[in-house]
Amino acid sequence: MEYLTKNESMVNLAMFGAVAVGMLWHRSYSSSEDLGNEGFDADHQESEDFVQSIPKVELHVHLDGAFDPEKLWKYMQDNPDILAQFPTEKKLPWTDPAEAPLPLREMVEACRTEVDYRHLCTCRRRYQALRNKSAKKGRHSPPGTLEDLLTCFEFFFPLVYDNLALLESLAYDFVVRQYEQNIIYTEMRYSPHLLAKDPQEAFAAVTRGLRRGCREYDVTVNQILCAINFVPDWSNEVVDMAAANKEKDPCAVVAVDIAAGEDHFSRESPLWKGHYDMCQNAKNMGINVTIHAGETPDSHENVRKAVEEYGATRIGHAYKIINHPELIKLLKEKNVHVEVCPTSSVETGGWKKTQWTEHPACIFRKHGLSVSLNSDDPAVLNTSLTWQFRVAMKKMQWDKSDVTSVIEDSIDAAFVSQDYKKQLRKRLQDSSSWKKSLEFFTDRVHYDK
Ligand SMILES: [Zn+2]
Repeated sequence: MEYLTKNESMVNLAMFGAVAVGMLWHRSYSSSEDLGNEGFDADHQESEDFVQSIPKVELHVHLDGAFDPEKLWKYMQDNPDILAQFPTEKKLPWTDPAEAPLPLREMVEACRTEVDYRHLCTCRRRYQALRNKSAKKGRHSPPGTLEDLLTCFEFFFPLVYDNLALLESLAYDFVVRQYEQNIIYTEMRYSPHLLAKDPQEAFAAVTRGLRRGCREYDVTVNQILCAINFVPDWSNEVVDMAAANKEKDPCAVVAVDIAAGEDHFSRESPLWKGHYDMCQNAKNMGINVTIHAGETPDSHENVRKAVEEYGATRIGHAYKIINHPELIKLLKEKNVHVEVCPTSSVETGGWKKTQWTEHPACIFRKHGLSVSLNSDDPAVLNTSLTWQFRVAMKKMQWDKSDVTSVIEDSIDAAFVSQDYKKQLRKRLQDSSSWKKSLEFFTDRVHYDK
């Protein structure tokens, strides 16, 4: 697949766009049931203050899914020549060979405002229509699938690819984004190979930005390096980079992951060996493993493979095991933590939405599993970690003790020392870590229609 050839064109990856508007938390209220994206009305003010001010921990968030479209749009306006980086057409690796390629450049060029661009880069069903309209031929990927979410990244990857100064500044901005929500500890993940010709340079640029941000804002962000489902040839380097940087605080690498699909779990697949070997090497080198599994259709058995064969101690998503008690039992027995991403689970179809009170997060907790809530791709999903707790309190009917207990689970499952976990627990209990004054709070969620 063209996508597989390393550097050739990641530059092809995307389009432009974007946008963002200011983003302070508006008290706006929409009655739309769509994704639980309505704001809080006055009746929920107490919960709103609670979810804003409580010190939070996030274990599953992608750097490239958090690039602020406002900043990307501004960058494009300041550097109009960069449009040429966008391929006129891009064949996506997950689409049917018979399907027409995506006219990337044309779609980005058609954006007139940052809002247009943001909608292009945003995976919300109501924006899917816009992308379909712009893409003259073919549907490309049905809404509500992982593939649709991955398509969004195509509209900004060419901007950031091999652009080390921009990468550094976006990594710095990522830290600010966490600080703005009082997220005191984060494990942020990405694939260095997807971001530059030389993954070492991408890693160095991202690390510089993170360190500067963490120094200035007094939050901690560690890194998880992702292997990419479609490109097993990268995996060996991923684990070597992780090993070389695992003790290098601040912003050390604490784990490896496999992202962007689950095809590699099949032993018959040519994708299997590279990823499997990476995980065995990680185990031998004392590197933690967390893996995306149980998110795509019929993928419940992948959760077992991730744990029993790949050695994962945490699983990203795992929604597809909700009707498989033996797999829930397996996770419970092995004390495997599940990184749940509620908004993402709806957008990718990982969870076929019924009642929010039946969300996998609720089911897992009922069975005594260790669970965290996470934003996954906050910019691409137009959401935030704070938003996930809003959904939990308003839709899943969690109370304050449920939220606190999930944050405690997150601390227990973090890839850090016992001493540091103790410090995090102390901050959760210590009222001075709770932000009473919320003037600085923003979760950058947009409410435009
Ligand atoms: Zn993810």
